[in-house]
Amino acid sequence: MLADSWVATGQRASGARLERVRASPRFDGTQFLDVLPRQQASMLRSSREYFFGGSAYRTPRDPISVQPRTLSEFPSVPGALTLTWLGHSTLLVELDGHRLLLDPVWGDRASPFTWAGPKRFYPPPLPLDQLPPIDAVLISHDHYDHLDWPTIVALGRQTDAPFIVPLGVGAHLEYWGIAASRIVELDWWQEHALGGLRLVATPARHFSGRSVTFADRDATLWAGWALLGPEHRVYYSGDTAMFPGFDEIGARLGPFDATLIESGAYSALWADVHLGPEQAVQAHQMVRGRVMIPVHWGLFDLALHGWTEPIERVLAAAREASVNVITPRPGSSVDLAANPSGTPRWWPDVPWTPAARAPVVSSGLVATKTAAAGSGASLLALPDRF
Ligand SMILES: [Zn+2]
Repeated sequence: MLADSWVATGQRASGARLERVRASPRFDGTQFLDVLPRQQASMLRSSREYFFGGSAYRTPRDPISVQPRTLSEFPSVPGALTLTWLGHSTLLVELDGHRLLLDPVWGDRASPFTWAGPKRFYPPPLPLDQLPPIDAVLISHDHYDHLDWPTIVALGRQTDAPFIVPLGVGAHLEYWGIAASRIVELDWWQEHALGGLRLVATPARHFSGRSVTFADRDATLWAGWALLGPEHRVYYSGDTAMFPGFDEIGARLGPFDATLIESGAYSALWADVHLGPEQAVQAHQMVRGRVMIPVHWGLFDLALHGWTEPIERVLAAAREASVNVITPRPGSSVDLAANPSGTPRWWPDVPWTPAARAPVVSSGLVATKTAAAGSGASLLALPDRF
């Protein structure tokens, strides 16, 4: 069991992989630098709150009704713009005839341990052996709720798809038995061509590391992904806090038909590593998204908020900003090319704390109302040091 945990922790980059890491302008010789300075509450305070504080509704009291899926329900030729949310940040994206798998986590816990750590609220809606053929696996960063060792090993055996990952993350995959020839590592703004698609790694404000002693803190890069097809465009935020770079992502790679934006696992105690619901809606606007699908909520208890609070607050903020949000039941597929609408409430009504009582605002930003204010957007300018 301990040996498994050791393997799950992964491995640091070496050789040519380390040379690529070192060549990144974002690497300072020891670790990757974030887009803005990161302010965080003390570890002691965060841990105390995590273990003893927070909402009484951090986990569901009743079983969640997901939509079970099987291989035969997926088209043999992937659709133009169909999204299947498998919970948290695991997504199947059908885009202009290709099928991509994002941050695949089929494991029981987001943890290096099989006996401890955040446990999933419901089993995977689509069993891994029912996964339809995929063209690529994309990873946003090496945290356990995005990069799951047993899932990677299974995908390595079951598919021959390439793994497209941020700089340094390939070392974990290779250590777990994925052939180096199947691993593509990218720095921010670099891209990989796949059939008719361009897969672009985009900047994000987050961090990385798998070691329980934090020995590998920020040793690998974190990223979002712009998935650009000849007909449709999708943006996936990965894990990120608010930063002005969303504007640049929108300007260079948008507009996007759909955005998949992280909306949960936030706290004012760590507002520089996660967006929170209100800033998630704002990020959707900044990248110039048409339809927003909130992700990174409703599967693992990783924060202090109630488990439904992210989606309730996203919906409230979206209403105010006239943003179109879709809330698929886990397991279900949404054909966005067919212009779906509506937000089926598949989650229960439980108490939650509104933004006014527990705001989450990332640091280092100077909010300036601009001409865009009419659209509800508040653009962000940076202090001089950026
Ligand atoms: Zn993360």
